[in-house]
Amino acid sequence: MNKTLLDQQAIQRAISRMCHEIIESAKGTTDLVLAGIKTNGIFIAQRIAEKIAQIENVKIPVIELDISDFRDDMRKTSNNFTIAKNLNNLKVVIVDDVLFTGRTVRAALDCILTNYRPQKIALAVLVDRGHRELPIRADFVGKNIPTSFNERVEVQLSEIDNQDLIQIVSD
Ligand code: 5GP
Ligand code: MG
Repeated sequence: MNKTLLDQQAIQRAISRMCHEIIESAKGTTDLVLAGIKTNGIFIAQRIAEKIAQIENVKIPVIELDISDFRDDMRKTSNNFTIAKNLNNLKVVIVDDVLFTGRTVRAALDCILTNYRPQKIALAVLVDRGHRELPIRADFVGKNIPTSFNERVEVQLSEIDNQDLIQIVSD
């Protein structure tokens, strides 16, 4: 059974609100960088950057975080990763589609802090589905969606799925 939670308009509105919150919290856009977690987080980071460009008339840099080497519950396959920008002294907002146990974000923090010393790191997620296993929380949340552990939040984004839709999928 699938239950639609956010349609295209609701996703746009949530991202729009998060943009205003991000700008307000950072007191503008100076030194702001968005770090999208591969893959969906990058699309959402790009959407946030586009919206902030509309609101503030400023282009915020978007970088990609590929954290597959940093997960504590996945086997290391290699040690090479690159962050295509020096993040020292910048205000980094990590962006992902769904926040669950927090292990991916923990890995993203490791990935950044191994190499750089940002002024500040914040977290923006489109969906917080609960069930944290680490002391991590999001600063900017599109929608809190309480789930059971075995449910899954399906995130369809027009960049890959040719429509925007978020729904809970259970067997
Ligand atoms: P965590 O590391 O917090 O347990 O899980 C978050 C990562 O796994 C995110 O990158 C997210 O894309 C993915 N993820 C975890 N749960 C879900 C879910 O219910 N739906 C989707 N679409 N992704 C999830
Ligand atoms: Mg993901």
